[in-house]
Amino acid sequence: MLRWIQQDRADILQYVGVLPAPIRGEMYDLWISPKTGEELERCPFFRRGKCAIHDTKPDVCRKYPHGKPCLREMAKEGNR
Ligand code: SF4
Repeated sequence: MLRWIQQDRADILQYVGVLPAPIRGEMYDLWISPKTGEELERCPFFRRGKCAIHDTKPDVCRKYPHGKPCLREMAKEGNR
């Protein structure tokens, strides 16, 4: 989250929820609706089959193979 603050990425930060108490070392929650405050079912940055914020995506997403489409969101599409 600090990276997004330093990068002035309000477009990303609007979807980040700050947790009142750290859970497993994390202090924020992804991805939260800026309108309702509820967790979104789908990542708002999965667009046209790709990650729209690949260069600065969350650490948890960096575990996916480099250069590959977002497997997490593609799996959800397959389950629809
Ligand atoms: S890798 Fe997938 S889940 Fe992560 S930010 Fe990109 S589109 Fe969203």
